[in-house]
Amino acid sequence: MRYGSTKKILITGGAGFLGSHLCERLLAQGHEILCVDNFFTGSRRNIAHLLENSRFEMMRHDVTFPLYVEVDEIYNLACPASPIHYQFDPVQTTKTSVIGAINMLGLAKRVKAKILQASTSEVYGDPQIHPQPESYWGNVNPIGYRSCYDEGKRCAETLFFDYHRQHHLSIKVVRIFNTYGPRMHPNDGRVVSNIVLQALRGENITLYGDGSQTRSFCYVDDLIEGFIRLMETGPEVTGPINIGNPGEFTIKQLAELVINITNSKSKLVYRPLPPDDPRQRQPEISMANEALGWQPKIELRQGLERTIAYFEKYLNEHA
Ligand code: NAD
Ligand code: UDP
Ligand code: UDP
Repeated sequence: MRYGSTKKILITGGAGFLGSHLCERLLAQGHEILCVDNFFTGSRRNIAHLLENSRFEMMRHDVTFPLYVEVDEIYNLACPASPIHYQFDPVQTTKTSVIGAINMLGLAKRVKAKILQASTSEVYGDPQIHPQPESYWGNVNPIGYRSCYDEGKRCAETLFFDYHRQHHLSIKVVRIFNTYGPRMHPNDGRVVSNIVLQALRGENITLYGDGSQTRSFCYVDDLIEGFIRLMETGPEVTGPINIGNPGEFTIKQLAELVINITNSKSKLVYRPLPPDDPRQRQPEISMANEALGWQPKIELRQGLERTIAYFEKYLNEHA
């Protein structure tokens, strides 16, 4: 199936924020890309610039249904990622993670493809260990508003490891910590896009709770580099492996940095904290460092400057 070093690569959720960057990077490496997406949160705009490329193919498809294609590698990213979107139809969210994983694993089994799962730091829930190493089993509410996402992703990890043990699949599980950058969905309520848009529009900046909760923000290019390095490893490297930037900031610090960069006159306002909102989050990345020689390179200020430039252009185009 494979000719020379060109691989046929399936990216589910390829029209989303992370997926579109991954399509772009793998195309630039000369591979053939099959982008599969149901456009729930992704958009044609994210991949419009790739459609002219003869090595890029877009397929509208929902991963909860079987998919019969021939590929060498699969990156399984299909799943709404922000609380607003994954709570919109929580049953569909769980189905996407669980049935989607079963279908993609079944496909990988049939065609003997390597398969990477985009898991999440949410598998750690509201963590009682800080920072979070891969060995931590997490503190997750199984019946709350975030559970469709958190437990769906946890079950997907279970399926990946059982297909690995039972059917000897070559699996790669990456636990992604908060990632930001151009092509984030403007209305998905995630903190970076919210604050940047509020600052650029001169609107009040909404801090949930007292803004003292922490997150660690990874710029998208760093994350994609981690994905590709992980996929290139031999079968002995399965993960789960944390990919994220250990630089930890309170949400208030993030807002102040965005105000500083944009020179915005926006004021900070406080809103109730959503249920089950984790207090703190910071990746322990020594495993990624040792197994992949990976570490993030882009500082928060630099990454925010690029993200702000993207949203400025976006606002001009949609004025
Ligand atoms: P996104 O919403 O931009 O991308 C998800 C894509 O999956 C969208 O294009 C959406 O249309 C598609 N999709 C959803 N359900 C589908 C289905 N049933 N069939 C086919 N396509 C479907 O979000 P993102 O930030 O790019 O996230 C990509 C992946 O990374 C997700 O699996 C997410 O859980 C994971 N992740 C992201 C972050 C982050 O900070 N961005 C953090 C942790 C994990
Ligand atoms: N599957 C798929 N594409 C394939 C092979 C399988 O979508 O190329 C789906 C298939 O519908 C099945 C799932 O993957 O429901 C799991 O496949 P597996 O072979 O592991 O299990 P089984 O077919 O025995 O249920
Ligand atoms: N948040 C906030 N204001 C916003 C959006 C989010 O204070 O306008 C907070 C949110 O409560 C959470 C953090 O920022 O504590 C990160 O939220 P996001 O939804 O981006 O990611 P997650 O909670 O899934 O890590």
